[in-house]
Amino acid sequence: MIIDCHGHYTTAPKALDDYRARQTARLLEPGSPALPPDVRISDDEIRDSLERNQLRLQRERGIDMTILSPKASAMAHHVGNATTSLHWAQACNDLIHRVTLLYPAQFTGVCQLPQSPGHDLKASVAELERCVTGLGFVGCNVNPDPSDGHWSGPPLTDRYWYPLYEKMVELDVPAMIHVSCSCNPNFHHTGAHYLNADTAAFMQLLLSDVFVDFPTLRLVIPHGGGAVPYHWGRYRGLAQQMGRPPLDQLMRNVFFDTCVYHQPGIDLLLKVVSADNILFASEAFGAVKGIDPETGHAFDDTRRYIDAAQGLSADDRDKIYFRNACRVYPRLAAWADRHAALPHPTTP
Ligand SMILES: [Zn+2]
Repeated sequence: MIIDCHGHYTTAPKALDDYRARQTARLLEPGSPALPPDVRISDDEIRDSLERNQLRLQRERGIDMTILSPKASAMAHHVGNATTSLHWAQACNDLIHRVTLLYPAQFTGVCQLPQSPGHDLKASVAELERCVTGLGFVGCNVNPDPSDGHWSGPPLTDRYWYPLYEKMVELDVPAMIHVSCSCNPNFHHTGAHYLNADTAAFMQLLLSDVFVDFPTLRLVIPHGGGAVPYHWGRYRGLAQQMGRPPLDQLMRNVFFDTCVYHQPGIDLLLKVVSADNILFASEAFGAVKGIDPETGHAFDDTRRYIDAAQGLSADDRDKIYFRNACRVYPRLAAWADRHAALPHPTTP
């Protein structure tokens, strides 16, 4: 069984973007009320958007299920106000829910949160609860920089975030730390802002006692952990120098995915980080599209790198492909229980 823990609905039907355009246009009309979600998309449009894209890749690559969330770069939490973010998150999450109803074997939902710079997280806590208890989602994406490139808010370890962590612990769901677009021309979104955020989040966590306060909180740092595995010695040394616990302790709560798009990168990740802390992911139809001319295969076909990794035991491979995801996302147990009874055409 192979679970891809990191997919985005980047191919959502155009009506979703049309709503966003109308919603944000309203912001420019003084005195006009906010535009609640009014997205009209047929089941056939959803099927068509997935069959030709994510589902085709699932079948070609032998992936059983993808944990799907709204398009990350479109979260754009800096846009408008708290109501703008709430309506947009609801629209995007409701569409993910419809995907999971149409394809219950192939997709499970993770939600976007209605974060907004300078606002508290009450709406995010409520939306997380709605998505998990009402829509069957198994986790959330947390944007560590809702200013989208200017890092004007508090670090992930500040007590500002604690109400969200309390709700995550109560619901027993993890978060993927995932930034959105970048308004700062210094940081290209997928080429710099994403990897900067992954790296910055790890260092914030290293410096804090957030996991003393929340011993069961689980955070997934995507894109292979940013620069962290490559600079593992630096982080070990900094922890030692600053009187912080060894990294082993931090890694009880922190996990990296395999969205690393070449063999040497995956090999390094597997060599440096315990297989207990690595979750299979591709972010397919995400950051990097296209074929690697050196291999003749898609850059984001990350299964090839895991399969080709030398010295990886069958047990560790199974942890990375399946068991770690079930451990980090315990609500997947409900999916696994019903999986056998569901149609799953990805499995020959
Ligand atoms: Zn992503």
